[in-house]
Amino acid sequence: MTSSSKNPVRSVVIVGSGPAGHTAAIYAARANLSPVLYEGFMAGGVAAGGQLTTTTDVENFPGFPEGVSGPAMMDLFRAQSVRFGTTIHTETISRVDLSQRPFLLWREGYESEEPVRAHSLIIATGATAKRMNLPGEETYWQKGISACAVCDGALPIFRNVPLAVIGGGDSACEEASFLTKYGSKVYMIHRRDELRASSIMQERVKKNERIEILWNTIPKTAHGDDSKLNALEVESTTTGERQKLEVSGLFYAIGHKPNTDPFVGQLELHDDGYIKVQPGTTLTSVEGVFAAGDVQDKRYRQAVTAAGSGCMAALDAEHWLSANALI
Ligand code: FAD
Ligand code: NDP
Repeated sequence: MTSSSKNPVRSVVIVGSGPAGHTAAIYAARANLSPVLYEGFMAGGVAAGGQLTTTTDVENFPGFPEGVSGPAMMDLFRAQSVRFGTTIHTETISRVDLSQRPFLLWREGYESEEPVRAHSLIIATGATAKRMNLPGEETYWQKGISACAVCDGALPIFRNVPLAVIGGGDSACEEASFLTKYGSKVYMIHRRDELRASSIMQERVKKNERIEILWNTIPKTAHGDDSKLNALEVESTTTGERQKLEVSGLFYAIGHKPNTDPFVGQLELHDDGYIKVQPGTTLTSVEGVFAAGDVQDKRYRQAVTAAGSGCMAALDAEHWLSANALI
């Protein structure tokens, strides 16, 4: 396929709009690569800007000693991408063909139109919150059950009533603490006898008198009156004993699924769907395709590490384009 002025081959296309995608864009733009970034339209169920748009304060991103709200921080990332000349489209990439060059990318809703063409691709599509598919979950989804306490916790149905959070990681701790602002009490339900969360987050929930941790416990069934959730049946993993907790809110904080559906079969993925990269780099199994942020990182999963790997991806892409005389 030859390049035309109507559908030129882009040097670098970035898919994803969290800290990884925008940092890659800032570096690529400053390297005069005129990056084009697809920020997604509720891709993977998350707004453009990524996971931090679902949180309140970010307290551990360097440069913000007083903390900064997640959505505000992502607005700043986006503004910096635009300032250096990144072209941003509020569209989701639904399919790619990485078997030919230039690479081809199709936009959701416009699959019958000409695909976007790119010499190099940076995948920074992040990850999405997991659900449990409990009996009753479908009936009470968004009628008491949610996977984002920060987004939904302030709703009237969660005020002054008992609530439950599932999980034992940083998200579960953060969400349980956050929900004590609204609920009368928060049960934190964890399947093991120790939390996975960082020490500071653990300390916060353990000190909070309005949080009760139910150890070695798993949720079994969501109950309600058809219009909204009113109870959760849970089971002890040690004794098998069941009890019904009267809760009007159930929040999942059980981790994330990498947003790699458009790339399945196109490049090597780990069994759990994360993109494989060569250790210490952002190089994937396909030359000219780079992966950054949570989509390739199941270990650190932090804004600052995502941003760091976004920088690496842009530098890796620039180096590859130059070595292949494509810039
Ligand atoms: P993401 O932030 O996941 O963003 C990727 C985005 O790209 C998607 O959300 C979507 O909008 C877009 N996208 C996806 N697929 C496509 C597609 N096919 N086409 C186009 N666009 C697409 N980390 C910290 O360091 N500090 C914190 O305080 C902190 N708090 C957190 C609180 C919560 C509730 C959560 C869930 C996470 C928190 N994290 C925190 C982790 C942090 O948010 C992530 O590590 C970071 O956002 C990952 O960035 P990313 O760029 O890899 O992807
Ligand atoms: P994690 O993967 O760290 O934790 C998921 C939790 O859910 C674990 O405790 C896990 O249990 C439990 N879980 C998973 N699947 C199930 C299941 N099917 N049934 C019951 N329980 C289940 O995810 P998080 O979202 O908490 O954190 C993701 C990343 O984001 C981390 O790197 C974290 O540090 C970061 N983050 C940072 C924050 C901060 O710094 N302020 C705030 C929020 C997140 P088990 O432990 O037994 O595996």
